Amino acid sequence: MDIVVEKNRIKEIKTLGAPGLEIKPENRPKLAEGGKELNCTGMYLLPGLIDMHGHIGGAAQGTPAEYVFKLWMAHGITTIRDPSAGNGLDWTLEEKKLSAENKITAPRIFAYTAFGQGSKQSLSTPELAIEWVRDNAKKGADGIKFFGAAPAIMKAALEENKKLGLRSACHHAQMDVARWNVLNSARAGLTSMEHWYGLPEAMLDETTIQDYPLDYNYSREEHRFEEAGKLWKQAAAPYSDKWNKVMNELISLDFTLDPTFNIYDANRDLMRARRAEWHEDYTLPSLWKFYEPSRQSHGSYWHNWGTEQEIAWKENYRLWMTFINEYKNRGGRVTAGSDNGFIYQTYGFGYIRELELLREAGFHPLEVIRSATLYAAQALGMEKDLGSVEVGKMADFVIIDANPLENLQVLYGTGAITLTEKNEVIRKGGVMYTVKDGIIYNAKKLLADVKKMVDEEKKKTGFKITQPGLKEF
Ligand SMILES: [Zn+2]
Repeated sequence: MDIVVEKNRIKEIKTLGAPGLEIKPENRPKLAEGGKELNCTGMYLLPGLIDMHGHIGGAAQGTPAEYVFKLWMAHGITTIRDPSAGNGLDWTLEEKKLSAENKITAPRIFAYTAFGQGSKQSLSTPELAIEWVRDNAKKGADGIKFFGAAPAIMKAALEENKKLGLRSACHHAQMDVARWNVLNSARAGLTSMEHWYGLPEAMLDETTIQDYPLDYNYSREEHRFEEAGKLWKQAAAPYSDKWNKVMNELISLDFTLDPTFNIYDANRDLMRARRAEWHEDYTLPSLWKFYEPSRQSHGSYWHNWGTEQEIAWKENYRLWMTFINEYKNRGGRVTAGSDNGFIYQTYGFGYIRELELLREAGFHPLEVIRSATLYAAQALGMEKDLGSVEVGKMADFVIIDANPLENLQVLYGTGAITLTEKNEVIRKGGVMYTVKDGIIYNAKKLLADVKKMVDEEKKKTGFKITQPGLKEF
């Protein structure tokens, strides 16, 4: 195929003949004067990937935006939705503008402000909530990220936000989920649910509240994450009436699920996530310290995490993945989001892990890519411009010299292990070029920039990655 791009749009897509046969030069579109041709013979081209849960990080992780942006771009992520605008809406909108103007190397950004962010008073009435929602829209946000609130406030805010034409995402945090779960949100107009909290709660059939231990304290993250691992088992069984009813209603409401499987991957195999081979070269010292067991850092609840917790989480995943896969099979929209910068999931790498976990849930590799591209664009309301390689859409591509459908691991910056006929171990893949807005980035060069940042930081501080609690002898 030849793909013709003019400025930042796809102008023409042309089949050049049958595979294996010589390409007749007269069949090819003519390169415009001053044009640039990128020879991708033997390579694979995908639409730019979209991370639907991309925190840009910052203060807590000690990660500069450039580090995060380059890791994303190096993994073919050309668009992200920032769920919280955690560095403040003004900051996020400024980065969004710089990215849109291509003055920085960064994915295009959609800013979803954390509900209530910047408000001088707590949004304790529907009227105050509506006022904040209008203000948020006026300031130029693309949407709102909710964490749950009292039912009347959630309803008022979601309805007003939708009326204004903005989108929304919600992490249904445990504090409000007993009185407002994903069904309530979907009915009130929420675009997507994040993670999975609030979904099993809509399907509890022997109780109406999660079976919390009586000394449960949400602020103790070891409680929060251990008990979460037992939650799916408390919900109605797969394919039962209640399970079907909830699923079918969510689908009829055109509701999007953004599971972020990867961010809990450490819960079912902490050593795997902790020893991932990219940490040494690509995880900044401050980010590594943030991941380490701590009573303070979010997502570092490794007080006594062992066999019991990991087995419970494996079972949790089986039930969760069954729901997500069937949701997709019945026509529901599932997207790919990373939530990286926590729980040993480093930016970019964690997103590719998300694709692997969608595959594990039962998605065909093509269905995985669709979730990572077109479905995400639909959930953002951007399907006219993004999400697929079509004439008229923006020129956002991932170009790679190995087939990601055969092995999604080739998309990792570190590539996939391959043994050659000569018994030589090599790596295959790693994205070659990331094209955003028609601009070609050398993805391996971006990754090298990141490694340099990490190396320099280590040299400055003499830092070396060590494993928690292990003493050197
Ligand atoms: Zn998040």
